[in-house]
Amino acid sequence: MKLNNNPSIKAQSGLQVFQLPVLQDNYIYILRDESTQKTAVVDPALPEPVNLFLKEKNWKLDFIFTTHHHWDHTGGNIKLKKKWNCPIFGFVEDTHRIPGIDTHLQEGEQFSFGKFPCRILFLPGHTLGHIAYWFFEEKKLFIGDTLFAMGCGRLFEGSPQQMFASLNQIKSSPPETEIFCAHEYTEKNGHFALSVDPQNKNLKNRMTEVKANRKKNKPTVPFFLSEELKTNPFLRATTLEEFTQLRKKRDFF
Ligand code: ZN
Ligand code: FE
Repeated sequence: MKLNNNPSIKAQSGLQVFQLPVLQDNYIYILRDESTQKTAVVDPALPEPVNLFLKEKNWKLDFIFTTHHHWDHTGGNIKLKKKWNCPIFGFVEDTHRIPGIDTHLQEGEQFSFGKFPCRILFLPGHTLGHIAYWFFEEKKLFIGDTLFAMGCGRLFEGSPQQMFASLNQIKSSPPETEIFCAHEYTEKNGHFALSVDPQNKNLKNRMTEVKANRKKNKPTVPFFLSEELKTNPFLRATTLEEFTQLRKKRDFF
């Protein structure tokens, strides 16, 4: 007997992700588990687009997941919490600077969103308290500003050592991992990547595709780790020295 061969049912049984482009180049993600009717938001820069989306779907908000304290990731926290009375998750050591935080997460901690288990990765570098939400059964990684398509986050607080270690941690995830980052920086990152790795055929091909998509105003996020391993110069750097030089160069690109 064949079970569940209706593709729309199959799609509904997985973790659903919706992408809301806001501000200049930010992405807010809405997560939905249909089986338990739970809804979460990752890094709400603003409250209004989230509320509009929820209204359209006729869903309520159950959780707010924060990757790091920057305003373009937490700007909607307080208003959303007031409206929905939902808990805000964030890194325990950033309690003093994540607005409204009430669930204090530790490195490696595991919890469930609906029926999907999630593990917290600690990825310092962009900030000292940056975390990612790793839905390991779904192979979906919500990574904030640590890794971007063909790029990585600026080192606002952390050291090159810390960021290099964080990127190496990401590298050890399964290559089929789907990465949801918080900014559409892909095209500019790609230009930089090509400037330091001009002979990379995979990179050239990817950039052709990226340019075409951006012309049509299509998002280039999410993307697969397997693609990054072939084209992202920051993931391809094999030594700390190499990584440090690249990051410095990128700051002035
Ligand atoms: Zn940031
Ligand atoms: Fe950001």
